[in-house]
Amino acid sequence: MNGLGYDVAVVGAGMGGLATACLLAKAGRSVILVDRAPRAGGVCQSLVTDGFRFDIGATLLPGFGPGGPLATLCQRLGISVPIKECDPAFQVALPAHRVSLWATPAAWWREVRREFPDEETGWRALWSELESLAAERDRALREMPPLPPEGWGDRLRVWRVVTMGPASSAPTHAGGTLKRSMATSLRATMVRHGLGPGSQRVLDAVLWYLLLRDADACSTLEAAVALQRVRQGVVAVAGGMAALVEALVGRFQQDGGQLRLETPVARLLVEGHRVAGLVTGGGETIRARWLVANVPPDVLTGTLLPPRRGWWERRRAVDGPWQPTLVAQAMLLSVPEALLPSELSGHCFVVADPQRPAREENLVFIRTAPAVDEGQAPAGTRCLTVGRFVAPRPGGQDDAMASDLLEAVDRIVPGVASAMVFHRALAPAALAEAWGRPSAAARYSLDTREWLGERGLPHRLGWPGLLAVGEWTYPGRLICNVAEGAMRVADLISESA
Ligand SMILES: Cc1cc2nc3c(=O)[nH]c(=O)nc-3n(C[C@H](O)[C@H](O)[C@H](O)COP(=O)(O)OP(=O)(O)OC[C@H]3O[C@@H](n4cnc5c(N)ncnc54)[C@H](O)[C@@H]3O)c2cc1C
Repeated sequence: MNGLGYDVAVVGAGMGGLATACLLAKAGRSVILVDRAPRAGGVCQSLVTDGFRFDIGATLLPGFGPGGPLATLCQRLGISVPIKECDPAFQVALPAHRVSLWATPAAWWREVRREFPDEETGWRALWSELESLAAERDRALREMPPLPPEGWGDRLRVWRVVTMGPASSAPTHAGGTLKRSMATSLRATMVRHGLGPGSQRVLDAVLWYLLLRDADACSTLEAAVALQRVRQGVVAVAGGMAALVEALVGRFQQDGGQLRLETPVARLLVEGHRVAGLVTGGGETIRARWLVANVPPDVLTGTLLPPRRGWWERRRAVDGPWQPTLVAQAMLLSVPEALLPSELSGHCFVVADPQRPAREENLVFIRTAPAVDEGQAPAGTRCLTVGRFVAPRPGGQDDAMASDLLEAVDRIVPGVASAMVFHRALAPAALAEAWGRPSAAARYSLDTREWLGERGLPHRLGWPGLLAVGEWTYPGRLICNVAEGAMRVADLISESA
């Protein structure tokens, strides 16, 4: 810090803010990271109670494979965390059996032949289309200028990449293909490849978890990017998410970063239409050349930023609708290890009523802490976090929530209700409190064209000096997507004079 303040102030020490702050501190910038919670991590929280440790937000991570965003982030920061691969990555529980999404190709194709013998050709065609789309999108993003484009030269570059394909790809109609895949739902693509209702239900369940949208609502390109991350492998971190958060906090502080916890930010400091720092709830002013916001958009635009007026109001900003449309409900359980079926994957999705769409109330996630995660529970027991994302509704329905969730677990772990050694239900308000955000989970409308070219990634919000990172600023909602966005923002700032 110099007399004029910090180079960068980051508001919110969720994974996005933490990753950005670490990268910038490592690059030699003076950085302050401020969070209102007593711990860093945001949604990545471990809750320790009665001798059990539960990851109550993220539990398993895609993106640690070679070249994956989390592997790249750790490499750039020079940190390593002990990880263990989880294969199968996901399972979807249909009425009579579980379908496993194996990351290992041989195991996956064996599964497809066993589960959907008449649809193997369709699955192969779909998988290969999604794979090449994801690769094409990665290439396109590498050739794009920082988004959204500024000036005609940048706009022309974006237009060329999106409509004609990246120059580095083989001469194809890649650009046209990307554009078409943004305008086509995954449902239409699955139907084109001849996938039947059972196959579609499996992908619906997985997409609902990955993107909080089903195959009707998400584009083929969006699905391609999300599914590719899972197919490249999912890992568990020994010590839980807290271990990853601690590694990042340690790196940040070693590189001279200032971490201020239990410091709510009341508003951003705006001077001459430029964001110039922040003002804490205690009235302290912290000045910075760049401000990176890692808070939910409803907090940012509703509380921290002043309303736009005059010319600024008319300037196009990436905005809304910011109302959360989904909240999370959860239940923490610990059960005797012997009760768990063999080959239960870390993430198992139960479609409660197979006649209804695999989404909202009808899709329950059962997340099992891996055996590698020592210290999570007394010997002979394992911790499960069970949850679902539902539309917000008036309180007072917690009993129904707990019995619905237990009923779903019973499909996988018969007799769970009488065998559990610990259980606790967490309604949306309790989760919101633990995560430090007003909504337990939020889904925001994001048109894929916004992140591939037409308007760019919503990191820049139309306020000079302000950039945003986190779950809502980058396609996908997983930590690997958050990390990818954080790396782009840190690079944007590092490249600035
Ligand atoms: C139930 C659930 C399960 C998930 N499972 C997985 C999974 O298995 N794998 C995976 O990869 N991803 C998973 N995710 C997604 C992943 O957890 C999130 O995408 C990621 O943690 C979000 O990080 P973020 O950077 O957006 O910040 P957040 O975690 O939202 O952090 C925001 C921070 O801002 C702080 N803050 C807010 N307001 C203020 C203020 N006024 N002043 C100061 N600080 C403030 C908060 O205290 C908080 O620390 C899951 C998410 C949920 C909800």
